[in-house]
Amino acid sequence: MKKGILIKYGEIVLKGNNRAQFENRLIKDIKVGLKDVVSSVNVTKEQGRFYMEAPSEGTEEWMEAVIDVLQRVFGIIGICPVDVLENDDIDTICDGMIEYVKREFDEPHTFKVFAKRTNKQYPMDSMAIAAEIGSRLLDVLPDWTVDVHNPEIKLYAELRNRVYVYGKEIKGPGGLPVGTGGKGTLLLSGGIDSPVAGWMMAKRGVQLSAVYFHAHPYTSDRAKDKVLELARRVSAYAGPICVYVVPFTEIQMDIYEKCQHEKMTIIMRRQMMRIAEKIAEMEHSQCLITGESVGQVASQTLASLNCTNAVCTMPVFRPVIGFDKQDIIEIAKKIDTFETSILPYEDCCTIFVAKHPTTQPQLEAIIESEKPLVNIEEQIDRAVRDSERYLVRESGWKKIRIDNEEDEADKADADDEAKSSLTEIIEL
Ligand code: ATP
Ligand code: MG
Repeated sequence: MKKGILIKYGEIVLKGNNRAQFENRLIKDIKVGLKDVVSSVNVTKEQGRFYMEAPSEGTEEWMEAVIDVLQRVFGIIGICPVDVLENDDIDTICDGMIEYVKREFDEPHTFKVFAKRTNKQYPMDSMAIAAEIGSRLLDVLPDWTVDVHNPEIKLYAELRNRVYVYGKEIKGPGGLPVGTGGKGTLLLSGGIDSPVAGWMMAKRGVQLSAVYFHAHPYTSDRAKDKVLELARRVSAYAGPICVYVVPFTEIQMDIYEKCQHEKMTIIMRRQMMRIAEKIAEMEHSQCLITGESVGQVASQTLASLNCTNAVCTMPVFRPVIGFDKQDIIEIAKKIDTFETSILPYEDCCTIFVAKHPTTQPQLEAIIESEKPLVNIEEQIDRAVRDSERYLVRESGWKKIRIDNEEDEADKADADDEAKSSLTEIIEL
C-alpha cells in the first residue's frame, strides 16, 4: 500500500473554461513552495483533486514537511493524508479502510462513510460502496457507531485513477493561487496592519511587491530589518516579494520645515503614495495596497483618506478598511506576523508627528500647504532612484545590487516563479 496526499482546491472549480489554467498555476505554486523542502515534487491531476505520492522511505517526515507548506498555498482548501490501494475491488477497498481506521484511531467514534467513483461503469454505485464499507467496519469494530447526521469521523473512499481511503482533512488557507490575480504594490510599514493587508490581497491571488519608507538615521537599520522580516513572513504565503526601501529623510525634513505641522502627516502620506505609485508602475503593478482602516488614526478618517487618495491614479486597495484592530490582530497572529510587528522599533510616521494633527483636512488647503515644497517631482524621482531593493523569500532576503548580473538574474527568476501563467485576460 502506498501513501500520499490528496489536495482539494476550492473556488477554482468554478472557473469554467479557465479552470485548467488555474489548476496549472496552483501546481506551479505548490512546486515553488516545496522547492527547498523536498527533493522531488510530483503533482498529478485527478478530477477536482491533486495527488502527491510520498516516498517509501522517510514517509512520515515527508508528510509533515509537505503538509506544513501546503497549509500556506493559497487555492488549497483541504489536505488529506491518504492510503492508496492496489485495486478497486470491493474487498480490497473494505480491507483498506479497516486497516486505515485501526491504524489512525485509538478510540471508537461515531462515523459516516462517503464514497465517490469517477468510473460510472463500476459495478456498484457510490451509495452501495459506502454501505458495504460501513457494514464491514461495524463487523470488525463493534464499538464504532454510524451517525449519518453528525458523525465525529467522516471516512472517504474515492475511486479515481487510483483508489484512496482517508478520514482526516487538514484545512488549507483557501483563496486563489498567487499569480492569478495580477500584481499589487504594498505599502509595508513595521506595524500590524500592512502585513495583514498584503496577505489578504495575496490570498485573492495577487502577487506582491512592497515599498517601505525609511527615514535614516531617525529610523534605524533594525527597523528596516523588522520590515524585511515581516515581508519574509508574508512571503511564506505570497511567494517571493521585491521590497523597495525608499530613503525618506530628505522628504520628511522638507515637509517638517516648510509645511504647517497639523497637516504634516497628510502631506507625508501623499508623498508616500506618489512614490509608491511610481514604483508600482516600474513593477507593472495594477494597484497599491495599504493597511489603513477607517478612523484608526487622524490620517485615516475619510476626509484624510480622500486627501491621500487624490494623488493616485492607480486604484488603492485597503483590505482591512472595515476591520477593528482586534480583527486585524487575530489574522496577524494566525499568519505569524504579530510577534514581529509588536517589536518596539521606531516608525518614520511617528517621528515627525504634530501634537494636534488635523482629522478633517480639506483637499484645497492641503494642496495650498504643499506649495512651499518646490521640488516635489525631483525629490520623488531621486527617492525612487536611490531606493535599495531586496528580494525576500521565505528562506531569507538578499539585496539586489544595481547592474549586478547575478542579482538581476535572481530577481528575474523570482519574477518568473511568481509570474502568472495566465497570459490572457481571465474570464471569471
Ligand atoms: P500598520 O498599518 O502597518 O500597522 P501603522 O498602523 O503605523 O502601521 P499608519 O502609520 O497609520 O499605520 O499608516 C497607514 C498605512 O500606511 C500602513 O498600513 C501602510 O500601508 C502605510 N505606511 C505607513 N508608514 C509606512 C512606511 N514607513 N513605509 C511604508 N508604508 C507605510
Ligand atoms: Mg495602521
